[in-house]
Amino acid sequence: RDEIVLVGRSNVGKSTLMRELTGHTKFTTGKKPGVTRSPNHFDWAPESFMFTDLPGFGFMSGVESHTQDAIQTDIVRYIEENADDILAAVLVVDGKSVIDIIDRHTTEDSIPHDVEMFYFLDELDIPTVVAVNKMDKVGDRDERLNDLCDRLGLFPPWKQWRETIAPITAKRGDISNLTEALRTHLHDQQRDDLF
Ligand code: GDP
Repeated sequence: RDEIVLVGRSNVGKSTLMRELTGHTKFTTGKKPGVTRSPNHFDWAPESFMFTDLPGFGFMSGVESHTQDAIQTDIVRYIEENADDILAAVLVVDGKSVIDIIDRHTTEDSIPHDVEMFYFLDELDIPTVVAVNKMDKVGDRDERLNDLCDRLGLFPPWKQWRETIAPITAKRGDISNLTEALRTHLHDQQRDDLF
């Protein structure tokens, strides 16, 4: 089975992006965060290829912290167990708040979820694209994306990392930077029949 996994904090726009990627098909919404803990699969043409929407991680209002930890554990376990089937990962972040959140959660003995997930995917050799969503709300675009590179250990400028850093506005259907980046990774794996 071939799949692309989507991961990200809750409320970054992962569902909105999923709808854009999958052409509004086979989509279920309305579930409370933390309740949908098993991965959702979406078929995407051609046949053998699918997106897997993993549950949102990190703080969610109304969800207890031990539940949040359990979700995080489930996500990590799912990726580890399916690493051989995963073609690529999309780590979705909110361009408006990602730097503040990363900096707030960086301490001497802990690293933020987003950064941890990025390194984890790299360790498993899963090609990863960071979809920097809500760029419609970001004024200082280049500066923000360069800061993100810096936080992820990628040497700025971000324009050197177009296969890894993809600014998008999912709400407006502006996701071409992401599909281009994914296409590059799949092309590397002889899957250029896609997109
Ligand atoms: P999820 O929890 O990650 O699945 O996030 P949702 O897809 O439910 O989106 C969370 C909120 O962000 C909603 O109010 C969306 O309308 C909004 N949103 C999603 N994409 C964008 C975007 O590109 N720009 C802006 N400004 N808002 C967005």
